[in-house]
Amino acid sequence: MPQVVTRFAPSPTGRLHIGGARTALFNWAYARRHGGKFVLRIEDTDQRRSSDAATRGILRSLAWMGIGWDYGPAYTAPDGRTLGGQQPSVGSYYQSERLDEYDRRLRGLIEQGLAYPAFESPEELEAKRQAAIAAKTGYKYDRSALDIPLEQRIARMDAGESHVVRFRMPDGPVTVHDRVLGDVTVQPEELDDFIIRKRDGFPTYHFAVVVDDAAMGVTHVLRGQEHLINTPRHVALQRALGFETPVYAHMPLIFNPDGSKMSKRDKDKTAKAAVKAAGLDAPPVGSIDPAGFAEWLEDKTRQMDTDHLAELAAALKIDLPEIDAEDFQAAGYLASTLVNFLALLGWNPKTKNPDGTDLERFDADYLAAHFDFDGLGKTASKFDRQKLLAFSGDDLTAMDDGAFADAWRGWAERFDPELAERFSAADMRLLAPAVKPRCKTLRDGRSVIGFALVGDDAVEFDGKAVHKVLIKGDRKGLETLRELKPIIAAIEPFTPETVEVAVGVYADSSGLGMGKVAQPLRVAVTGTSVSPPLGQTLAILGRDRVLARIDRCIASVEAQAAEVSP
Ligand code: GLU
Repeated sequence: MPQVVTRFAPSPTGRLHIGGARTALFNWAYARRHGGKFVLRIEDTDQRRSSDAATRGILRSLAWMGIGWDYGPAYTAPDGRTLGGQQPSVGSYYQSERLDEYDRRLRGLIEQGLAYPAFESPEELEAKRQAAIAAKTGYKYDRSALDIPLEQRIARMDAGESHVVRFRMPDGPVTVHDRVLGDVTVQPEELDDFIIRKRDGFPTYHFAVVVDDAAMGVTHVLRGQEHLINTPRHVALQRALGFETPVYAHMPLIFNPDGSKMSKRDKDKTAKAAVKAAGLDAPPVGSIDPAGFAEWLEDKTRQMDTDHLAELAAALKIDLPEIDAEDFQAAGYLASTLVNFLALLGWNPKTKNPDGTDLERFDADYLAAHFDFDGLGKTASKFDRQKLLAFSGDDLTAMDDGAFADAWRGWAERFDPELAERFSAADMRLLAPAVKPRCKTLRDGRSVIGFALVGDDAVEFDGKAVHKVLIKGDRKGLETLRELKPIIAAIEPFTPETVEVAVGVYADSSGLGMGKVAQPLRVAVTGTSVSPPLGQTLAILGRDRVLARIDRCIASVEAQAAEVSP
């Protein structure tokens, strides 16, 4: 048995889509399970749409998810691990750096008459296509280039005449043996002499993928069902090139719960709806071009680039649906939660928990020890965001406070610099016990302690809470606040524990009880009657800020009272 080699082969035209992340995860797991190798190949033959920034983003997302590659672009992960590296026999893992290899293979096919240069101009081809459409015959390249004798074809190509190279599709049917879907046979009428090298000298995806899978020793190809349509072409090419056909397994697509395909366009859809609901006809941010904005808004299919969409969402105060791996990271999911959730999209471990329910919660090691093709489904899997959120809440709750604080800090440093700046690592550790149980994602932490992020003179007092806690019942709450001021001023040192003790002593001695004492304080320092435990709420602000907020609250309530009763 040759060593198992799997691969993930993203085109670096954008961020790592969640479907791609799942493909990478399963390929990684299959290689691990069989003690094989997992290759990462960058399919950047579409020079116009590919970018280094996109490649870097994909590598970063894979590393974040813990999906390490054995061969491929070298990458040092934030935790110091080095991933990837080259095998001398293979060379580069960037397709744009492998053109010589493709040309060499292509030359062989051309000389054998298994592929041929075709010299029609794009206009000529378009005219033929239009004629076929008018005649309702269905367009397929008519092979006129084959009328040119072989030596002449090669001579014209070598002389630099503009051309594409086409694969001469064999005449019989092609059968793909798929490990998930069974045998899939395509008749010759459905296959044409597709282009394998473009006019610009770059190979097409079909050719590069086949040459590279062979060059990199890939034994198993797991990819999304959207590629099934390509596989007969790949199998035909493999035969012409004398390569072995790897094992294919095509995985079900990932759908939204409403049955639509989960795609980046969902973000545009959400943003367009919000823009329309807000009645805007000009962009609310200066960086977006107004003319482009108007076109985008009117055309359902139009997409805005990721950065502008994010700015727009921030201006509209809306959350866009998470689609790319990085979206989930930014939304505050742990990589381990996402990995577990993705593993269940289209794969079933077919194992029961001791209580008889299906096993759903497991980690990457479990997946790497058990992943097999038999557990892959045929039908589309639904992306259930509520379930992911529930997994996430459970996973955060199960962490110990220290681990939560570290994860929260790491997240904030990257995605919420204001939070990371305002709270030190020590502060976040202090807050962790209060914040953790109130979070479903790491991002939720901000709403729990948001009160500490606003300036002391910017706290917004919730009218209802003020009325209920401070004004109602003869303004007893307000009185309590006044009495608490000197007590708070005297607490030394000012820690969650000393605050709790001092306030507790007053609650007892005044006979009011903790509730009637804590609530006025909460409203005064946070503006609302909900916050983490009182000791932590006050300690995180520090004594001076607490006193300043109490003063401002008292003054504001008094001013209000003066207005209503002249
Ligand atoms: N570059 C292709 C893509 O990103 C890879 C397809 C394949 O796995 O063969 O869709």
